[in-house]
Amino acid sequence: MAFVITSPCIGEKAADCVETCPVDAIHEGEEQYFIDPDTCIDCGACEAVCPVSAIFQEDFVPEEEKDFIAKNRDFFNK
Ligand code: SF4
Repeated sequence: MAFVITSPCIGEKAADCVETCPVDAIHEGEEQYFIDPDTCIDCGACEAVCPVSAIFQEDFVPEEEKDFIAKNRDFFNK
């Protein structure tokens, strides 16, 4: 289980989450930030500080954003 960054981050990249994450699981991509699901400890701190509500726990990612579960994981598997 991990938290996932979804489409509202694209073009926004506020990055408030990066400073908040206690385990440095959030890394910068070209268009958005991503969460490493193998590093995330599921604390929820990032979700609380995201100004555009782009972050969800994996189980609560909205239906139309579900592609982002794989996108976050794939970013770290390159
Ligand atoms: Fe980092 Fe916690 Fe967010 Fe996971 S849920 S990315 S550990 S701040």
